[in-house]
Amino acid sequence: MSEWKTSACILCECNCGIEVQLGGEDGREIVRIRGDKAHPASRGYLCQKASGLNYYQNGKDRLTSPLRRKSDGSFEAIDWDTAIREVSERLLSLRDKEGGERIFYYGGGGQGNHLPGAYASGLRRVLGMQYRSNALAQEKTGEFWVNGMMFGAHVKGDFEHCEVAIFLGKNPWHSHGLPRARAWLRDFSKDPDRTLIVIDPVVSETAEFADIHLRVKPGTDAWLLAAMVGMLVQQGRYRADWLAGHSTGLEPVLAAFADVPVQQYCDIAGVPLSQVQRAVDVISGAGSVAMAEDLGIQMNRHSTLVSYLEKLLWVLCGQFGNPGGQYVPASLQNIAGSGRSSRRSPVAGAPIISGLVPCNVIADEILCDHPDRYRAMVIEAANPVHSLPDSRRFAQALRSLDTVVVIDVAMTETARLADYVLPAATQYEKWEATFFNFEFPDNYFHLRKPLFDAPGYALPEAEIHARLVEAMGAMPEQLVMELNAALADGGREAYRERFMRALAQEPGLVDLAPVILYRTLGPSLPEGAAAAATLWPVALGFAMREPESLRRAGFDGEPMVRGEALFDAIVAQHSGLVFARDEYADSWARLGNEQKIRLDIPELLDELQVLAAGAAELTSAEYPFVLMAGERRDYSANTIYRDGDWRRKDPEGALRISPQDADRLGIASGDRARVTTRVGSALARVAVTPRMQAGHISLPNGYGLDNEDGSRSGVALNELTSLGDCDRFAGTPHHKIVPARVEVVA
Ligand code: SF4
Repeated sequence: MSEWKTSACILCECNCGIEVQLGGEDGREIVRIRGDKAHPASRGYLCQKASGLNYYQNGKDRLTSPLRRKSDGSFEAIDWDTAIREVSERLLSLRDKEGGERIFYYGGGGQGNHLPGAYASGLRRVLGMQYRSNALAQEKTGEFWVNGMMFGAHVKGDFEHCEVAIFLGKNPWHSHGLPRARAWLRDFSKDPDRTLIVIDPVVSETAEFADIHLRVKPGTDAWLLAAMVGMLVQQGRYRADWLAGHSTGLEPVLAAFADVPVQQYCDIAGVPLSQVQRAVDVISGAGSVAMAEDLGIQMNRHSTLVSYLEKLLWVLCGQFGNPGGQYVPASLQNIAGSGRSSRRSPVAGAPIISGLVPCNVIADEILCDHPDRYRAMVIEAANPVHSLPDSRRFAQALRSLDTVVVIDVAMTETARLADYVLPAATQYEKWEATFFNFEFPDNYFHLRKPLFDAPGYALPEAEIHARLVEAMGAMPEQLVMELNAALADGGREAYRERFMRALAQEPGLVDLAPVILYRTLGPSLPEGAAAAATLWPVALGFAMREPESLRRAGFDGEPMVRGEALFDAIVAQHSGLVFARDEYADSWARLGNEQKIRLDIPELLDELQVLAAGAAELTSAEYPFVLMAGERRDYSANTIYRDGDWRRKDPEGALRISPQDADRLGIASGDRARVTTRVGSALARVAVTPRMQAGHISLPNGYGLDNEDGSRSGVALNELTSLGDCDRFAGTPHHKIVPARVEVVA
């Protein structure tokens, strides 16, 4: 058996450290996995999902050669030189004819896979691409916008130290989002001095640990949260003194909630007033409260408004910048953006939040005759045909484009519709990292070493992007020569001086910096870590922005010296390192708005009025159920697991239904049923469970992939979801409340 090597699980944002042994044919398989005790965040913790990582590394549908579509629709393998030349020529020609803003960029990474997006900035610059999106615009942009408006920063809950923890539409047993979530839930629930509140229509695994479970009716979270904030205001239980010193805009908020009909809103949400009052009593009386929301409300009705109400709930109780409250993490690289933007998408005029076009409008901005419609797409490390609503329409949109280029590991549903497919190395065949570093007071970064060479002709994205920029004639060759000379003659200090001077003279070079660094600094890095080069300015920038956090993490000296030391440490370590050690006051320093929280968001206070009309029925005689399309379960994961054999149970992803509904329909666990929505229909195996309330059904995420061998396991959810049902502020789709009907299949 081989020695243990370090890496990370890549299935969720936690990216737990792992140790693996390699074996199998030519040592190309991951045969044993255990938690890496030296990883500073996960400390040896793993959930069971990581055990299947070899199904990703050696998964179905792997790409090993560049492919070009032939006139008969099939693909032919081509060499890299041909692929790079033809892709460059086609995209440059399109840019010159239609304008670079007609070429859309989608993706750029996934969980634990964030360097491709950094390297793609050069291609986007050369082509003049103005519009882009990724999965964050499916889920998180409403919260990003609210965070941007209220804090000017990304905010997280300090669950490690809180007295009261609240999860809203979130089941960390499966979705995690905080380190060591299952161990944390067990420990927290045993502590008699701490209280767990869960707001969820489902009796989730997390709800089973809860002291208070507010089992809201599907799609009514806005009414429940408005009632809770209304109670705080009407009962005078907000912290007026604290708010006077730490916030602006209190008066409009108090006015907006003064008349909220609390009893009526609790009735709409289906939660007894006494239970809601108990939760509010606990929250307003607690020394510290940490709260997290997730897809249960972010892909649901009034999602942006609910994000706002969630934050008002704890801000009005003074739960920011305190131990066990909320904090702003030190950010090595902010990939969530500021949330704010006045830009709009070119055809639908949809709001662009954190630089991302809402996913729901992309297909419509292609399938039209508007002069500003998109004409081409570059899609990288993403599978939008499977992951975006109404897959058939998105596939139709891709087919109508002039050019589609896909960069990916596997022949996905999206890659099958491309003109060119460029094969990428897996996350275990290249240097890779995540920028989802959100912890506090210690924050961590983990640059992972490759475990394998890439098979065939697959390449890391850094190399693919460098070749594309070079083929387009956009690599500044003179500067590259001078940087190489500076590095050879004067070392990193001389290199830094020349690099900074180049950026000062031509600020636009910043987007090309990753590929320039990759070609110059990259080859000098130890162990072949060339793709880590783009982290060098990231480390230097962090040292300039956050010198004290970095010093507390053990990096001393002048800022530049600290930045260089941080970069060297990132490249040298193999189990992750602490790059920031914060104090609570740091959160205040990271706020915009003169270190004050902005309470009033006029658009959302106005939106509160919409609730007064009551909750429109989600169901009808034709569609009497509310389908949660995308439940997290034991064996659901993101779709980088393309081989369904990794699942030890629930192989088809059962349709969960309540006992009451099962009795009424005369259906039992194991039976087959047809689920039909306004958009499509699918067959599923039934599982009857009291976790679901009457009228509410669920299907899991991550199933329904079409493998090259013709196999498919489970339902492809986005054959059932619609582009039209989405939040009016952020455009995030309503996957958690899809009207549906269920019919028994003989
Ligand atoms: S919590 Fe589980 S799925 Fe997430 S990174 Fe850790 S092992 Fe992987």
